[in-house]
Amino acid sequence: MKRITIVGGGQSGLQLAIGLLKKGYDAKIIQDRTGEDIAAGKVLSSQCQFDAALAHERELGIDFWAEDCPPVEGISFSVPNPEGPSKVVDWAAMLDKPAQSVDQRVKMPRWLEEFTKLGGTLEIASADVAKLEAEAKTADLVIVASGKGEIGRLFERDADRSPFDAPQRALALTYVHGMTPRPEYSAVNFNLIPGVGEYFVFPALTKTGPCEIMVFEGIPGGPMDCWRDVSSPAEHLATSKKILDTFLPWEADRCRNVELTDDNGILAGRFPPTVRKPVGTLPSGAKILGLGDAVCLNDPITGQGANNAAKAAAVYLDAIVAQGDRPFDEAWMSSTFERFWDYAQWVVRWTNMMLLPPPPFVLEIMGSAQVLPGLAQRIANGFDDPRDFFPWFADPSAADDYLTSLQAA
Ligand SMILES: Cc1cc2nc3c(=O)[nH]c(=O)nc-3n(C[C@H](O)[C@H](O)[C@H](O)COP(=O)(O)OP(=O)(O)OC[C@H]3O[C@@H](n4cnc5c(N)ncnc54)[C@H](O)[C@@H]3O)c2cc1C
Repeated sequence: MKRITIVGGGQSGLQLAIGLLKKGYDAKIIQDRTGEDIAAGKVLSSQCQFDAALAHERELGIDFWAEDCPPVEGISFSVPNPEGPSKVVDWAAMLDKPAQSVDQRVKMPRWLEEFTKLGGTLEIASADVAKLEAEAKTADLVIVASGKGEIGRLFERDADRSPFDAPQRALALTYVHGMTPRPEYSAVNFNLIPGVGEYFVFPALTKTGPCEIMVFEGIPGGPMDCWRDVSSPAEHLATSKKILDTFLPWEADRCRNVELTDDNGILAGRFPPTVRKPVGTLPSGAKILGLGDAVCLNDPITGQGANNAAKAAAVYLDAIVAQGDRPFDEAWMSSTFERFWDYAQWVVRWTNMMLLPPPPFVLEIMGSAQVLPGLAQRIANGFDDPRDFFPWFADPSAADDYLTSLQAA
């Protein structure tokens, strides 16, 4: 039986490890925090996953919250009028299939439990190079799925695939109870405040039941880059509300009665989006393969990281099974990542585009969606598969052709 070691028990590592156990492999996870630590810690993400990513969890029978988690039924997009409390762009569209967000403090402890129940070996330790060397001696394959963990620096940054070398947004999360629901249907309400940043909010399931997750993406140095001096959960909530009062009065109106889900329902930080070379070499010469955020880290502006992690884990599972008795050598590792990159390159490109000031043709697309419901629906559903944004969202003449064809129809 082939033995596979995975460092990191997050979205990608655990999904892959559980998949491997179900296919008859011997899987080991080295994870630096126990399920109890994760459950008792700070929120990690807003983790909204669209249907194609959720389908991988359904296939493995680990979608334990499908009934309890409130659905995200659509996407709305607004741009406030800089002159006053109104919107210059405002549209919404339904997703073909709902999205869901299950707090990783709920999900990962349950998946860790499932992993051990299925016979997986769990070692609670922070893996370092010596540990990776030891695993490489006994396992047929060592995968590093350590998210933003330091150990991921073993993989060389891929400058050709990483246009930014500094954080592009100051990020913050605020998990709340008591928000007024959208009247029509539940949605990711995405608000773009030119020169300031973005705010989006959607329903989720947390430790204390259904909640809403507020996500702030502040342009560095701007007024939404304001979390450094916040020193308590109450101040974090007050800062969240103040941003909405200042820039997005319609969102502030939904928040008159909100309270934090718990004192750990907050997060603030920043990181540069980075793609790394997928194969790492240990001092002994042994090769290791990166998975998920460890080698493909996106800014959360488009809510794609956990979706990517789930899709990458599914690609890797297929590739491992397809390799049969043959070795997991460097060529196999590179081609496995490239199979994922065939998809992920479009996610990375779209996400990185969204971090830059939108060019006029993108503004025209986003504005036209107000009067072209088919366009609004296509943009909304693009979150589930961002390949559909190309070429028309990236190229002015393709955008022009597409808009002309929609208007003619
Ligand atoms: C503010 C914010 C909002 C987000 N919102 C969304 C969203 O709405 N939708 C979406 O799809 N994505 C979102 N993401 C991204 C998403 O959470 C990640 O992309 C996803 O969790 C990555 O999965 P992963 O398996 O690669 O890593 P992780 O889920 O981060 O798991 C890595 C695991 O490895 C462990 N680890 C690290 N180093 C070591 C070590 N040396 N030894 C042992 N264990 C180690 C960590 O403790 C962790 O448990 C968001 C991220 C942030 C920061």
